[in-house]
Amino acid sequence: MATGLEEQLVLANLILDETGLTVPFGHVSVRIPGTDRFLISRAIAPGLVRDGDLLVVDLDGKVLEGKGKWHGESWIHICIYRTRPEVNGVVHTHSLYVTALATAEGTFLPGTVFGFPFAGAKLYRKAGLVNTRERGEEMARIMGTDAAVLLKGHGASVAGASLEEATVKAIMMEEAAKIQLLAGLGGGAKPYAEDELAEFARELEEQAVRNDRPAGLFERVWAYYEDRVRRGPRFT
Ligand SMILES: [Zn+2]
Repeated sequence: MATGLEEQLVLANLILDETGLTVPFGHVSVRIPGTDRFLISRAIAPGLVRDGDLLVVDLDGKVLEGKGKWHGESWIHICIYRTRPEVNGVVHTHSLYVTALATAEGTFLPGTVFGFPFAGAKLYRKAGLVNTRERGEEMARIMGTDAAVLLKGHGASVAGASLEEATVKAIMMEEAAKIQLLAGLGGGAKPYAEDELAEFARELEEQAVRNDRPAGLFERVWAYYEDRVRRGPRFT
């Protein structure tokens, strides 16, 4: 029987598959609370992941529990968790629109209300996969404390305070990249001005203080896709 954390990670895998972000590449992990260990699937497509496919890995890259080959790009997860104790969920995708923007060496513009957290996301330019400690460290250094980093000709890595947050941010980032690229056909995305963004940020902060922010954005998006996954053929 899977633990709650394992069940959520299987769901995250299936949600990323359902949303088309990881077909068939990409991976998602969750930190085991209060430890230097995390859960990630063995090296199979996220859409195929079930309870028995999960591994427990430490922050030196050692597989402590579970069977099967690990993702060579697990270094993405290791290096983000090592440098960012506030991060508890990491997603790596090769999703279409984010990869297109990264390949164009495009700048993420603050052009949509859900996409503005990714504005100015840095670009990791090295060709090839992030499949060594050295490359993972370089990627994490470029990412800094940002929500995401673009990988040229490859995809993106996204971090969140929770598994749900990282998963939903990856979905929102792909949507924002899609809108920005499509806006290019209509004359180009026009970003919000700095003062407009500052006002929006103030508004969000005030809502947080008053505790009347519209019911959890991340929870809402997660719940929507969880329902779609559970109604799908895997659970029937
Ligand atoms: Zn990759």
